[in-house]
Amino acid sequence: MSLSELLGTSFDCGCGRTHRVPVRELVYGRSAVDSLAEILRRSLGQTMPRRVAIVADVRTWDVCGDGTRRSLERAGLEVSRIIVPDRGGGGPVCDDATCRTLVERLRPLGPQLVVAVGSGVINDLCKWASFELKLPYVVVATAASMNGYSSANVAPTIAGVKMLIEARPPVAVVAEPAVIEQAPRKMTTAGFGDTIAKHQSNGDWIVNNLLLGEYHCGFCAGIVGNIEPLYLDHPEDIRDGKPDAIKGLFEALFWTGMAMTLVGTSAPASGGEHLLSHTLDMMAEVRGENHDLHGRQVGVGTLFSAALFERILAIESPVLGGRPPEVDAGFWRVPSVASAVRQQYDAKRQSWERVRRKMADPGVWDQLRTRVAAEVKSPQTIRDWLRRAGGATSTADIGCSRERIRSAILHMHEIRKRFTMIDLAWLAGVMPAATDDIIDLWLS
Ligand SMILES: [Zn+2]
Ligand SMILES: [Zn+2]
Repeated sequence: MSLSELLGTSFDCGCGRTHRVPVRELVYGRSAVDSLAEILRRSLGQTMPRRVAIVADVRTWDVCGDGTRRSLERAGLEVSRIIVPDRGGGGPVCDDATCRTLVERLRPLGPQLVVAVGSGVINDLCKWASFELKLPYVVVATAASMNGYSSANVAPTIAGVKMLIEARPPVAVVAEPAVIEQAPRKMTTAGFGDTIAKHQSNGDWIVNNLLLGEYHCGFCAGIVGNIEPLYLDHPEDIRDGKPDAIKGLFEALFWTGMAMTLVGTSAPASGGEHLLSHTLDMMAEVRGENHDLHGRQVGVGTLFSAALFERILAIESPVLGGRPPEVDAGFWRVPSVASAVRQQYDAKRQSWERVRRKMADPGVWDQLRTRVAAEVKSPQTIRDWLRRAGGATSTADIGCSRERIRSAILHMHEIRKRFTMIDLAWLAGVMPAATDDIIDLWLS
């Protein structure tokens, strides 16, 4: 069965659960925007809207906004337009204030459907705002830049802290190849970084499954296995914007995001490697600085994580006597941010103890090494993929000094309560000792 046959269905999975795929249409094709009304009819059926609000930023409106509006008006729908303003020197951001403003602008228009035209931030804002307003939304994608099109989660910044909020995915994801192929190369390589992260996050998922009994689904872990050759056999095709590779990347992003929706957590596509990106975002927020795109930072985080996994898996019989340092309030600067971080961190302490106890079981370490090694990639492979695809591989590529990346690495285990290999590295004494070495060898 092909993945597209799963759209809009429920199915019994080998993991023992019934998975539901809430997105009903994934249309990646020429003239997809022209046939938007038809796609809405298929995905919404009886509840076909009369009033629609299109949400974009100035750039994404230029790319696809007018086409979307014309297509919907031609079908007799009443269309209004909302442009989310840029903030500071960059594009819009997804935070609580921006979402609130969007909800307040949408409400009086009385739309029955929200149409997001954009990628990361616009998609997240529309997912969040439409969830608040109990409206369906669809997205007209403008870049293969991240895996959030199909995920239920929004990852906003709330009071300076990077959070994960449960919302609802779109009913349809629509994209035109010409638009996605011509998106800024930086965005496409960000998507590439976000999608290869799954090789490492799957390692973290296995660690949590083996050591802490976390639920695991083999189907969701390997969901894009058949799509990957389209962009991983020749990563330079991503750099060169080759249609098949870009389509493969877009679909892989869609289905890795969907895997998170199917299992109800971010485990299939986000592990320790993502913490580096989230920490850099939070540091930028409290210091009033800029940060790079999520997926570009995630690509560098994936490289770091691969180098760290390699060191941990090389240990014959680890002694978990180490202890990650306490939350450094001065580093987080803003008291509310430090206290939110401390809450996450405190919730994780019991996992360390459970992991220590579990590791006393004979054979568990060998089992973990075998299963994780089969899943994760070497740092050589990750760097080779990123370089050939034209992605970011070094601290300088993502606009970071050595000192900044170093402090992000030393603090990134603090921000989430979920156990990852980063914690294991601290417990096993690999961190902090390996930090400088890995930066010098792999991130410089
Ligand atoms: Zn499953
Ligand atoms: Zn991501």
